[in-house]
Amino acid sequence: MPIIDGKAVARSIESEVAAVVQRLGFAPGLTVVRVGNDPASEIYVRSKAKKAQELGFHGAERIFPEALSEVELLAEIARLNADEEVDGILVQLPLPKHIDASKVIYAISPAKDVDGFHPVNVGHLHLGRPTLAPCTPAGVIHLIDSTGANIEGAHAVVVGRSDIVGKPMAALLLQRNATVTIAHSRTRNLADVVRHGDIVVAAVGKPLLITAEMVKPGAVVIDVGMNRVDASFAAQIAHDPDKSRVLADKGSVLLGDVDFARVKDVASWITPVPGGVGPMTIAMLMKNTVTAAERRRA
Ligand code: NAP
Repeated sequence: MPIIDGKAVARSIESEVAAVVQRLGFAPGLTVVRVGNDPASEIYVRSKAKKAQELGFHGAERIFPEALSEVELLAEIARLNADEEVDGILVQLPLPKHIDASKVIYAISPAKDVDGFHPVNVGHLHLGRPTLAPCTPAGVIHLIDSTGANIEGAHAVVVGRSDIVGKPMAALLLQRNATVTIAHSRTRNLADVVRHGDIVVAAVGKPLLITAEMVKPGAVVIDVGMNRVDASFAAQIAHDPDKSRVLADKGSVLLGDVDFARVKDVASWITPVPGGVGPMTIAMLMKNTVTAAERRRA
């Protein structure tokens, strides 16, 4: 059961990106916008801007108070759209409740939409045209490729149908000629559906949903889920000594959607949480920014 090392795959993408930046002869600009003080968003935004600087980009953070109005945020987006030095714009979600996130996403120029959430880019993705694809599912494709598994002709089961992970994941797998099934909360007999997958991508947000009995022997299993659980979960992870130890030490532990401790004995390849999909998201953001810069300034 080899474990997919997301950090190593992310590092190799980042060094490719840094090499492209060297060749470009200018520093691509990535601006990450944050509104309010959500602690998780603070960490994400800082690490994105920091990674951008590390790879030779012009990485900037624009931080606004929670009280920023929708009109003011849209004005900032318009300013960034017009700024020739800015190649990529990312607005960290979630936004405060008084701001309509879809209005903000629609306002970002599709050419600078490095999150790949603008309907123009979503449309291109589903039409199989070159586009800026959402970072997490694009990273998953790299992780599967890193195993040497053949996506073409494989049956891929994507569990979850969100706009940011499940749906674009299915579109990217289809583009690579997989036979794709999308499962969701209304799917009947999830276990039977998942058991057909040569490739299983879990993007649900429910700890340990995917059990060893649900996985076809030899399947490639990619776990996008990130679920922080506390001591009330101790009994459910008693079979997993590593997670139990972290829980005992720290009072909480990060779990995926997949029961890693047991599924690893059934799968041919599997991603851990953390250290699997997570590191790929930032790497793919950097890759999208370079792509946007090359296309826009060509
Ligand atoms: P989301 O918007 O909440 O979507 C969850 C999806 O799972 C929905 O389509 C839902 O179905 C489906 N679902 C819920 N319960 C289910 C069940 N019992 N059986 C089958 N399907 C079920 O979540 P998301 O934004 O896609 O994120 C999913 C997970 O990935 C979360 O844990 C999130 O933290 C993580 N994530 C990680 C990264 C990363 O960089 N590693 C990036 C993004 C997200 P319905 O559509 O029917 O409601």
